[in-house]
Amino acid sequence: MKKKWWRDGLPFECTQCGKCCRVEGYVWVNTADIAKLAGFLQMTPPAFEKKYLRTVGRRRSLIEKPNFECIFWDGGCSVYPVRPPQCKTYPFWHQNLESIETWQEVVEECPGSGTGSVYSGEEIEQLLRQKGETNKSQ
Ligand code: SF4
Repeated sequence: MKKKWWRDGLPFECTQCGKCCRVEGYVWVNTADIAKLAGFLQMTPPAFEKKYLRTVGRRRSLIEKPNFECIFWDGGCSVYPVRPPQCKTYPFWHQNLESIETWQEVVEECPGSGTGSVYSGEEIEQLLRQKGETNKSQ
């Protein structure tokens, strides 16, 4: 990443609109994420994997509904307490913070971005370290 243009912080406050949960894309999960999700749903990890995951190359992603909503979207996130890092860290992904222009694209898509409480540069750094970003738009 080039210089941290966002070092003085950025405003973000999720409006719970669910827009980011209802578009085509991958939600990547690792073994630890799967264990948390499976536990929350009182399933074994293999049963969870069979029912809710797809393999993409060497990675695993949640499946989507035919209309591209996240499989756990139910008028809200039905696994919110254990949602994957990608969901927890949005919109503070490397790809979104690449430049003011990429952030502006996020602001246009996500009504919570660019408004509300300011996340400090340190808080954004912490979220970036969780590497929640995706290769494909969320
Ligand atoms: S699109 Fe933005 S405001 Fe809407 S649910 Fe997602 S993060 Fe929250």
